[in-house]
Amino acid sequence: MIETKIKATVRDVQDFPKPGITFKDITPILKDHGLCTEIAAALAEQLNGLKIDVVAGIESRGFLFGPALAQLLKVPFVPIRKAGKLPYKTIQESYALEYGEATIEVHEDALLSGQRVLIHDDLLATGGTVVAASKLIEKLGAEVAGYSFVISLDFLKGAERLSPYTDQVFSMAAYE
Ligand code: AMP
Repeated sequence: MIETKIKATVRDVQDFPKPGITFKDITPILKDHGLCTEIAAALAEQLNGLKIDVVAGIESRGFLFGPALAQLLKVPFVPIRKAGKLPYKTIQESYALEYGEATIEVHEDALLSGQRVLIHDDLLATGGTVVAASKLIEKLGAEVAGYSFVISLDFLKGAERLSPYTDQVFSMAAYE
């Protein structure tokens, strides 16, 4: 089962990037090309036919499987990046981190009005990042059709923050 394989391969790094955080390091997954192929296929399959026009991936680990997922779904991939990285005109959204603030951006012409967007990242924690990404998508007149994660830390209840957008939240390896 893919969930068992992912959990057996991810490496827990204690106290990174700060004391008290157990970081889920997915680099051991990236060393296993067979598992990467399986994960990309399973990310597409778990959508269960949900209609998606665009996959939007979040910098930086949302860029690892997001483009592969978009190719399998035969739809465009749109990068959502940290402030100051995208070269063309952007719109921005800031959100609170545990300490301080972060800002993410998307190109102002990245989406068409009414497009159904799947937001993808490697991991769902508190949900703050994907809520900010959802706001960017709605600012461009598009719609959040679903959320796709390789891993979710369900004990942090991030999915509850996504319910105003959609209940279509997909994760392949959930930590209760
Ligand atoms: P959040 O906004 O709290 O849902 O955090 C999600 C973002 O932070 C994702 O881009 C994750 O890659 C990263 N992240 C948060 N917590 C962890 C963790 N425990 N292990 C690995 N990545 C994490």
